[in-house]
Amino acid sequence: MRRIRQILIVGLILMASGIGLLFASKSIILKPTITASPLPSPTSTPKPTPTPSPSPLTFAQMNERFGPCAFVPVLMYHHVQNLDQAKAEGHQSLTVGDDYFRQQLVYLRDHGYQVIRTQDLINFFETGTSVPSKSVLLTFDDGYVDFNTTAYPILKEFGYSATVFLSTGLTENPGYLSWNAISDMNNSGLVLFANHTWSHRNVGAENAVVEKEIGTADTQLKEHGLNSPKVFAYPYGFQSDFAETYLAQNGYQLAFTTNPGSTQCKKLRFELPRLRIGNATLTEYGF
Ligand SMILES: [Zn+2]
Repeated sequence: MRRIRQILIVGLILMASGIGLLFASKSIILKPTITASPLPSPTSTPKPTPTPSPSPLTFAQMNERFGPCAFVPVLMYHHVQNLDQAKAEGHQSLTVGDDYFRQQLVYLRDHGYQVIRTQDLINFFETGTSVPSKSVLLTFDDGYVDFNTTAYPILKEFGYSATVFLSTGLTENPGYLSWNAISDMNNSGLVLFANHTWSHRNVGAENAVVEKEIGTADTQLKEHGLNSPKVFAYPYGFQSDFAETYLAQNGYQLAFTTNPGSTQCKKLRFELPRLRIGNATLTEYGF
């Protein structure tokens, strides 16, 4: 049932972004050339939160079935920028205003939360090293240029680390990060750049396409000295058994969905939940 609903949602999203592309004036250049069907455009996609109902299992039940588990809210952002500018650029629905963002980090700091690294969650799964009881992870999808201009300077002020999921074929396009900016931020040690496919393709595509999408992004990240540890986020939140197997076989440690939830379990480490954060205080998200 959950799968069917996801397929329907992804279908709708693809239809909507296909229509969006017809009217899009901004051209997206992807390199290297791969023959591809029309690409979904992350910027024009109003991303509804696919809402398969959160697991009815308690933490203890999940821990027993899928554990070890840790309660770690993983905050998911896309654009962080001035909201008027986001509106003018047409991606308001994917944007958290810079003032809200700052307020959310202040809340984390003032309420004793610890921003951990993705590596810390991997260590918990691999070696059982515990994570602080009030841990959170910060993630940013797609690799928009405002991560560098707006989110990153604020993160630096707080000394908070983050993971950015890049669709590597979209880098260097208008509105997206450049490899130079990525390299500078990577050198700071605060940001992990990770795989979000090559062209922001959902992994419900044919197996050969999924391999090429994840594999090309893997190669491009590696060429730029990135992708360690290897983690992944599913474009549009859509996951598939084939993708999970492919990721596991290629050295990936974790994969994040857009399914809501904060209980992170080792046996479910290729379909970890996240919280999509919007323009509100974190108390609205259960903090
Ligand atoms: Zn995305």
